[in-house]
Amino acid sequence: MNAFSYARPRTLADALRLLRNGAAALAGGTDLVGLMKDGLTRPTTLVDLTGIDGLRGWSHPKGRGIRIGALTPLVELETDQSLAKTMPILREALRDAATVQLRTMGTVGGNLLQRNRCWYFRDEGTPCWLKGGTRCFAVDGENRYHAIIGAQECVMVSPSDLVPALIAYDAEIALTSSRGQRSMKLIDLFVAPRGRERREHSLRPGELITEVRVPEAALARRGTYVKAMDRKAWSFALVSIAAAAKIERGVARDVRLVMGGIAPVPWRVIAAEKGLEGSPLDEAACADAADRMLTGATPLRDNGYKVTLARELVRRALRSLVA
Ligand SMILES: Cc1cc2nc3c(=O)[nH]c(=O)nc-3n(C[C@H](O)[C@H](O)[C@H](O)COP(=O)(O)OP(=O)(O)OC[C@H]3O[C@@H](n4cnc5c(N)ncnc54)[C@H](O)[C@@H]3O)c2cc1C
Ligand code: SF4
Repeated sequence: MNAFSYARPRTLADALRLLRNGAAALAGGTDLVGLMKDGLTRPTTLVDLTGIDGLRGWSHPKGRGIRIGALTPLVELETDQSLAKTMPILREALRDAATVQLRTMGTVGGNLLQRNRCWYFRDEGTPCWLKGGTRCFAVDGENRYHAIIGAQECVMVSPSDLVPALIAYDAEIALTSSRGQRSMKLIDLFVAPRGRERREHSLRPGELITEVRVPEAALARRGTYVKAMDRKAWSFALVSIAAAAKIERGVARDVRLVMGGIAPVPWRVIAAEKGLEGSPLDEAACADAADRMLTGATPLRDNGYKVTLARELVRRALRSLVA
């Protein structure tokens, strides 16, 4: 690990002033510190965000949607009874994410910005394409956990459980930097690495996520999160899906399907969602949606099983919305 300085500002303005010249934001540290120990990132300064007031907790001003501070620990979202009623997909997604210790330390912002779990990427001695090398070692190597769809030069997969759940609620993020503020749809934070874009996120240097916003209208959807894992705990998704819809007189409206673990970005196919508009979510409609979600899938040597698994998870998640 390289030598670095440490600062714990008390205001957002001070944090933004410190976040320059190779400094990195520190939230729970559950991903960042591991990356530093493994020599995969070498910040000059760690800017600890945990001393800043107002970035933690969530609120639901009447009729104006939900706001979740970026420094809110994952466990708070998982255990809050009132939030579980309003956004049930969140609790389902977080229940099987990491361990309770990691969910206690890990924060919302850090979860959205965690790096991928490709083992070649995580190995300091392997100079793969995403780290500036010339080739992706996973394409011809051990690729059981890698992408089946949507990948170009890099076949890593989007690892977060929280992200598909939030996107199923049309979440947006608020960003701030010394240059000003902006907001974007959460799904637009994610970048499939390709060409000159050897990165996973579209965050700009010196920028912080301050909060996640969910519009009131999205809270009318019911939904579920289904995750397939190798083992019951400490396991990233082999394949996951957040499915949400309004069910009106037995048919689906306003459907959202967002998958994790199969592509370098959270995987959403608008045609699959539109195809379910007005559908009773019967077996035929669910099979058709699964086909549309996976159109163009090209599995690697070891991960053909993900196509079958993904198809079954789409079916199961959608059927549960009308069960
Ligand atoms: C063994 C293990 C198993 C895991 N299993 C799962 C799992 O099953 N599902 C899952 O979803 N996750 C899993 N994780 C990932 C875990 O959820 C993340 O490590 C955690 O959510 C990161 O949050 P953090 O606050 O600790 O982030 P940090 O490690 O502090 O930061 C992560 C990154 O985000 C940046 N950052 C943090 N906050 C902000 C902000 N507000 N604005 C701008 N940048 C910011 C940091 O600079 C850093 O680049 C696992 C992790 C481990 C170690
Ligand atoms: S999948 Fe991406 S991170 Fe993994 S070896 Fe290939 S280029 Fe590197």
